Amino acid sequence: MTSTIPVTDISNLSVENQFAQLPSDFYTVLRPTPLAAPYLVGASSKAADAIGLSADALNTDLFTEIFTGNQLISGSTPLAAVYSGHQFGVWAGQLGDGRAILLGDVAAQNTADSPNGRIEIQLKGAGMTPYSRMGDGRAVLRSSIREFLCSEAMAGLGIPTSRALSVTGSDHYVMRETPETAAVVTRLAPSFIRFGSFEHWYYNNAPEQLQALADFVLGNYYPALLEHDNPYQALLQEVTQRTAKLMAQWQAVGFMHGVMNTDNMSILGITLDYGPFGFMEAFNAGHICNHTDTQGRYSYRMQPKIGHWNCHALAQALLPLIGTVEDTQAALSAYQPAYQQAFDLLLHQKFGLQQLTEHREADGKLFDQFFDLMQQNGADFTHSFRHLSYINTAKSALDEKLRDGFIDRSALDLWLEQYRQRLQTERSDDPARQRAMQSVNPKYILRNYLAQIAIEKAQKKDFSEVAKLLQILENPFDEQAEHDDYAALPPDWARELEVSCSS
Ligand code: AMP
Ligand code: MG
Repeated sequence: MTSTIPVTDISNLSVENQFAQLPSDFYTVLRPTPLAAPYLVGASSKAADAIGLSADALNTDLFTEIFTGNQLISGSTPLAAVYSGHQFGVWAGQLGDGRAILLGDVAAQNTADSPNGRIEIQLKGAGMTPYSRMGDGRAVLRSSIREFLCSEAMAGLGIPTSRALSVTGSDHYVMRETPETAAVVTRLAPSFIRFGSFEHWYYNNAPEQLQALADFVLGNYYPALLEHDNPYQALLQEVTQRTAKLMAQWQAVGFMHGVMNTDNMSILGITLDYGPFGFMEAFNAGHICNHTDTQGRYSYRMQPKIGHWNCHALAQALLPLIGTVEDTQAALSAYQPAYQQAFDLLLHQKFGLQQLTEHREADGKLFDQFFDLMQQNGADFTHSFRHLSYINTAKSALDEKLRDGFIDRSALDLWLEQYRQRLQTERSDDPARQRAMQSVNPKYILRNYLAQIAIEKAQKKDFSEVAKLLQILENPFDEQAEHDDYAALPPDWARELEVSCSS
């Protein structure tokens, strides 16, 4: 559904800035701070496609200069936006784009990618802004590569997310726990507006700005909701449902965001702001991927609850527009059923079972038991589901892959007996079910150790592993037998890996 011919010369990209139509107290117009002698670390041709850039454009000096922030594309009004938020459950006051600069928006090539046909381009790590607080406005190569790869991996998994066009690196050192080099990730999304953008105006007692923001979001991204009697209530309900569904999608692939603060929650229900994220490996429902999160507020099992908590925070901010507590609560009450419905469907797909009313309760138990078995055996989340997708209705040698991941094989065998009986009740066709299961249970995820290897090579200016991982993760459901190694369990050294907010 390409609407225009891909642009090879980036300077021909037609950039506007829809966000700049908001009143001027929503942002500060400023240019990115240049980085000397930047180089391309990685670029996604799929993300480029989404904005009509041809693959040829990615390997040019102009591309590197523009997407490091050293040159501007004509038409762009670069700006940093203000927002606030709750961090770790506590009101944090004003935050804002402390190191992100929005260049503007361009035409989406695929109508499905954007509700208003525009995609915003944002540089992350492009220098200080009035919202940098104590920060230096920069992002380091390590976390930029992680964000780049994970954004594209999530897109490959079919999970709503901001995209990553590129990472550029530099030899400019910035101080973190140790000195690291600065990099810039170019992110794409129809909008980077957060729950915290609304909270900002609510807590600043600014009803006019609050309404301007809500009207902007409705008009640009949810025009159909303007037909409702109370569009603000409809907006809260829609965002609540999208957030619930997103949480179900995260849970179903074992993705942990790590910092689900309200300033990191997208008003479009997409995954935003990749920091100390992780994918579940040895299953532990209480797993905390963010080293800094000592209380486990953002652990795997907490994510759906926190998604709901965050919608409450948004509801509080929208209350003056919605009008009554009852109407606000009515919209919020959509969370639980939306989550349950989405998660139940995803689980049935993961287990290769039809959603049959008469099996509802028994299926729930069957699924819970499998999660319990994974937990008791420390079985790898991704392997367990992928290997489950290889087994036949009758016992066969294909069971062994799955059994290998479990210590207590007899307990697994008992479970498998029940599972097989369940398959028989719907006369499940092995090849068709296996194909369907393999299209939802990925073989490849961005394991921390894989990212780490790519990062260490990139720190030595070998970017080949970034490109290779990107290519594998773009098609996470395909066998790609030649890349079997990339589906392997983490090596012993990877157990020591820690990721924190320092990025
Ligand atoms: P994050 O945890 O990356 O979502 O960031 C939380 C807040 O801190 C946001 O307002 C960021 O813009 C800001 N921030 C994080 N790192 C930096 C940095 N190095 N320089 C300036 N602001 C930063
Ligand atoms: Mg953030």
